[in-house]
Amino acid sequence: MVILIAYFKNSFVSNGFKLVFVLLIKFLKIQYCINQKILIKENNQYMKIKVLGTRGEIEESAPYHSKRSGVLIDNKILLDCGDESFLEYNPKYILITHLHPDHAYFARHNEMPDTKAKIYAPEKYDEVNIHITNKPFKIGSYKITPIPTVHSVKVKSNAYLIEHKGKRLLYTGDMIWIEKKYRTKMKNLDFVITEASFVRKGGMIRRKKDSGKIYGHQGVPNLINIFKEYTNKILFIHFGAWFYKDIEKARKKFEKLAEQNEIEIIVGYDGLEIKI
Ligand SMILES: [Zn+2]
Ligand SMILES: [Zn+2]
Repeated sequence: MVILIAYFKNSFVSNGFKLVFVLLIKFLKIQYCINQKILIKENNQYMKIKVLGTRGEIEESAPYHSKRSGVLIDNKILLDCGDESFLEYNPKYILITHLHPDHAYFARHNEMPDTKAKIYAPEKYDEVNIHITNKPFKIGSYKITPIPTVHSVKVKSNAYLIEHKGKRLLYTGDMIWIEKKYRTKMKNLDFVITEASFVRKGGMIRRKKDSGKIYGHQGVPNLINIFKEYTNKILFIHFGAWFYKDIEKARKKFEKLAEQNEIEIIVGYDGLEIKI
């Protein structure tokens, strides 16, 4: 281009032609910058979410709801790994909410996961090389904040707040409750992904006689109540037996709950892709 400009400067082409040429170059340059800006803006605009599995720890199964928990973010970060086949996506990082086998397949038969991914979880497991998530950390340009959840008396559990280029996503895993002191981090969430083991109010919550500690799963209506303070978009996965009895009816139930609570509810299925 420089050579061409130099050629025209030194040649005997008319001034009018030179002017048109220079203007054309300027126009192309501006156009190029605009396109680049738009591209950069588009890249910043979303997180790509791919739901890999939506089935809880139950016997029931159905097409599009057969794989256990797993959500892939930007083809890089795998949230929970309830099925060995999820490793075929070659995630770079795996964040496990808790070491129940429907969220960490390798805990079912004490296997060593065959992956190069860095694995994060709230506690150690056997010989698996696990990075413990007890404080916020960064993976690349993603900020991850573990938020303790109440779910089990046997294993520790964390939800994960994932922040990337202005987007804020909360992935909870199984849960009954998030203590108020941890909720300060949950403001202005673009999206919440949570569980739907039980649709009835109160879910299934039990109490250990000796320690008095509670364990189990909260009901869908209660989870909506917790999260609608922080977001207007909830994606449900990890369906319990109730969902499989009549999937159409279950979808309608979610529609009704969305209307009543004036929020958007997305009913997950294996393979669902969304951008936020
Ligand atoms: Zn589970
Ligand atoms: Zn669990």
